[in-house]
Amino acid sequence: MPHVITSPCIGVKDQACTEVCPVECIYDGGDQFYIHPDECIDCGACVPACPVSAIFPEEDVPGDQVPFIEKNRAHFGL
Ligand code: SF4
Ligand code: SF4
Repeated sequence: MPHVITSPCIGVKDQACTEVCPVECIYDGGDQFYIHPDECIDCGACVPACPVSAIFPEEDVPGDQVPFIEKNRAHFGL
């Protein structure tokens, strides 16, 4: 289960998460950043790095943010 970036990233995109990800699986997707679901190793390093708490393990994504799980996968054509 990969980590997922949710709506608070939109308009912020400060890239703090990309600087701490050990496998560089976080990509600029235009309106927000996205985590490649197949490349993420679930280390959790990006979670505390995000200033707006936009990143969650997939199983812990809040209810109103669940559509971002599919939006994230769709960005990579998955
Ligand atoms: S959980 Fe780890 S591997 Fe996955 S996106 Fe965050 S920093 Fe990168
Ligand atoms: S640290 Fe948070 S707000 Fe910044 S790019 Fe990453 S997910 Fe978006």
